[in-house]
Parts: sequence; C-alpha cells; structure tokens
Amino acid sequence: MLAPGLSWIDLLFQGRPRAIATAVLQQAGGVALVDPGPASCLGALTAGLEQRGARLADVRDILLTHIHLDHAGATGTIVRAQPHIRVFVHQRGAPHLADPSNLLKSARRLYGDRMDRLWGACEPVPAANLVALEGGERIDAGSRRFDVADTPGHASHHVSYFDGDSGVAFVGDTAGVCIDGGYVLPPTPPPDIDLEAWRVSVGRIEQWSPSTLFMTHFGPAPSVRPHLQSLLENLEMTAGWARESLTEEGSDEERSARFAARLRGAMRQQMSEAQVESYPVAAPFEQLWLGLARYWRKRA
Ligand SMILES: [Zn+2]
Repeated sequence: MLAPGLSWIDLLFQGRPRAIATAVLQQAGGVALVDPGPASCLGALTAGLEQRGARLADVRDILLTHIHLDHAGATGTIVRAQPHIRVFVHQRGAPHLADPSNLLKSARRLYGDRMDRLWGACEPVPAANLVALEGGERIDAGSRRFDVADTPGHASHHVSYFDGDSGVAFVGDTAGVCIDGGYVLPPTPPPDIDLEAWRVSVGRIEQWSPSTLFMTHFGPAPSVRPHLQSLLENLEMTAGWARESLTEEGSDEERSARFAARLRGAMRQQMSEAQVESYPVAAPFEQLWLGLARYWRKRA
C-alpha cells in the first residue's frame, strides 16, 4: 500500500519479482492503472486486480508514462476487451499506440527473436480511446486529480503524473531503476536519450515536492531528494564512461562490455551480487551503453 486506495502489483516479469510494477489507484468511482506493463504479464495483472477485489472491467483509465513495451505493451489488448477505457499518453507517443509498427520495429532491433517471449502481443489502441498530453495539464482519472509534467530524457515522449492528495509522483523511468532500495540506475536505452532534457525533467519532478516517487522498476522511493541526487550523479557517471569509451580502441561490442563491467563494479560497492543481477531484467546493461553512445555520437 502506498496510500489509501493506492497500491501496486508486481507483474513478475519473466518470472522475476521486482522488475516491473503497475500502480493501481482504487476509488469508489473506479480503478486507474499507471503503466499496465507488457501483454506477457496480463495474467499477473489480472490476478493482482482480483486480489484487490477488482477486474479489468472496473478500470476506467490507463495512465502511461511512456510507450516502451515494458510499460505500455498490454494497453491495446486491454482496451480491445474493455473499449470504455481512456488512455492518457504523451502526444508524441499517441500515434505509435494507434499504429505500433514503428514502435515494434525499433523494439525488434533491440530484442530480435526474443520479442514475443518477452512482451507478448502488442495490439493497436483505437485512436478514439487516446487522450494526448503535452505536460502542464491537470487531469481527472480514476476519481483522482493528477498534475501532468513533460519529463523527457529517458524517452522523448515521457510524462509523469503527480497525485497531490497522496503526495505520490508516478515517474515511470525518469527517476531511474531502483530495486530494494539499492543503486539508482539511470535506464539509458536507445533511441532518444537526452541528458540535458533529463536534468530539466528531474527539476520538474522536484518542483512538485512529492513525498514519494513511484518507479515502474521498482516501486516507491520515499527519500525523494537523495534518490534524485543519486540518479543525477549516476547519470553523469555512466554518461561519462560511455563518452570515454568512444575514444578507446575496439569494437562497440567491446566498449559496451567494458561499460557493463565498470557499472557492475560500481553497483557491487553498494549491494550484493544477487541484487546487482536483478537489475538487468528491467534494464539490460548492454542497452545502457547503446543509448548513451548514440546520444554522444549524435552530438559530435
Ligand atoms: Zn522506458
């Protein structure tokens, strides 16, 4: 439980605990979900709702932080079965939910033939169900009121939601990946990492003065300021490693492997080996280098 009527479901992605979380907002007026996750986890989502005395038919609104498959893949499948559901999403993401072909092409580049096993089906969301956001709005969803902020950096189409009543900010991937209070890892996959934008986005989240950050990977972070500070420091550090690696000898594969080794070393100083290895389920290390390298090469 995060606050009254506010909890989260562990989607047990790939059979692993604490990789992907869906936030559930339950009020008399209905249920809202933040980031329903991939279709491969629909069984766990439905079971989690059942435990709360709810069904997918009770869901009124889906709030997406962004459209990456680990956050939003199941949306089309859910909306087909429950055509009354409204889907809130960044205006840049909306067209790719209505027609996911480019989204899938870009994901296939990263995941190849593991696509189906990881994510399951990704069906289009009818355009009529989509509510496009640009940040700055105040929306009513699931009988609650949320402030919306544009929070690019991890993705150019990322928004965050703030529930002023509970003080919880739903920040998707903008506040990083943090499992069991461990290392705050900035998820930096391709294609649109933007370090400058990310820093501005962190400032926007801080301006809400939230009491809790809710991360998709994984769950609530109660010490907001130190958490965001660690995120910015670690983003600076990993981005620096990626930049340095581009001046080094060797292939991209070797650069990426050295980056991953360096990251594991830094993470191990803070936590156990087993805890370190729970991170790549949510944020594969080789992708972190790819996204940062792309950012630096675009700038050069
Ligand atoms: Zn993402």
